[in-house]
Amino acid sequence: MDTKSTVFVAGHRGLVGSALVRMLKNKGYENILLKSRDELDLLDQAAVNYFFQQNKIDYVIIAAAKVGGILYNSRCQADFLYENLVIAATLINAAANNGVRKLLYLGSSCIYPKLAEQPLKEEYLLTGPLEPTNEGYAIAKIAGLKLCEKYNMQYGKCFISAMPTNLYGPGDNFHPENSHVIPGMMRRFHFATLRNDPEVVVWGTGSPRREFLHVDDLAEGLHVLMQRYHDPQVINIGSGEDIPIKDLAYLMKDITGYKGEIVFDTTKPDGTPRKVMDVSKIKALDWKPDYSLEEGLRSTYEWVLENKIFENDDEKDYRRLRRGEIRL
Ligand code: GDP
Repeated sequence: MDTKSTVFVAGHRGLVGSALVRMLKNKGYENILLKSRDELDLLDQAAVNYFFQQNKIDYVIIAAAKVGGILYNSRCQADFLYENLVIAATLINAAANNGVRKLLYLGSSCIYPKLAEQPLKEEYLLTGPLEPTNEGYAIAKIAGLKLCEKYNMQYGKCFISAMPTNLYGPGDNFHPENSHVIPGMMRRFHFATLRNDPEVVVWGTGSPRREFLHVDDLAEGLHVLMQRYHDPQVINIGSGEDIPIKDLAYLMKDITGYKGEIVFDTTKPDGTPRKVMDVSKIKALDWKPDYSLEEGLRSTYEWVLENKIFENDDEKDYRRLRRGEIRL
């Protein structure tokens, strides 16, 4: 892949897609192809085929996905399974039939069995039952990565899959209920600080451990994979280090300047007890993250403040959710 190649980033408006576009532009890529949801419905195979026929696409990175935190994921499993399955199927099939030279598909660390040995090695895939709160999402992602592997085996296509750990950074979804832990917590600590609330609620027991990676570090890693990784076997990408949710909460307290107490809402699910990746494969390709978790969280919070992410947000969605006027 070089700066003249035509690269289609599917899902460029999301957390990962927007970081990929930033990274490619910084490196001088001139032909980045982007389509919004209104312009191209990734659930429509005929429309996707037509798009690939009309554009000579050299490289595809699939960052498009329906994603969400533990509550959203567990409550809307049919949507997560259906949409992610179809997005993978349409794009991978169209790429295979239209001369794409290389495709990178993104999965997630939740594809590994709930109680797999830690750190999670790539070969633990399909060795045990999945975490029930994200089974629909995980099954779709497993189907997508297997599709890449099978196109590789049957047709010799260079379609590869990377499994990122929990991601965060600029462009994340900061919704009060359907976001992941970092943006969800950042939002609650932010408002609690402004309102001088005596306590902030953190979901679950605080004991689950999670690994986090800044999305700009991910984008650099994916560039390395586009250049140097050709194996059909999935490859993990993460920091290789995890922390308990409780410690993350205290870090967030410090970063947002919150002065009150932290309380744990144990009626909310914990999810899988631990999810930390073995990242020796990608480290062998000479990649490692630049951001420490603390630096990454501080710079993400600065981005949130600079971009006034919460400024026009009077939490009306949240109130409507509480009143039952809208459903997730
Ligand atoms: P997961 O890795 O699929 O479980 O995704 P999440 O990022 O949604 O949740 C990670 C862990 O953080 C879970 O144990 C949650 O219960 C916990 N958690 C604590 N506070 C929050 C919050 O405000 N939002 C979310 N999404 N999770 C939280």
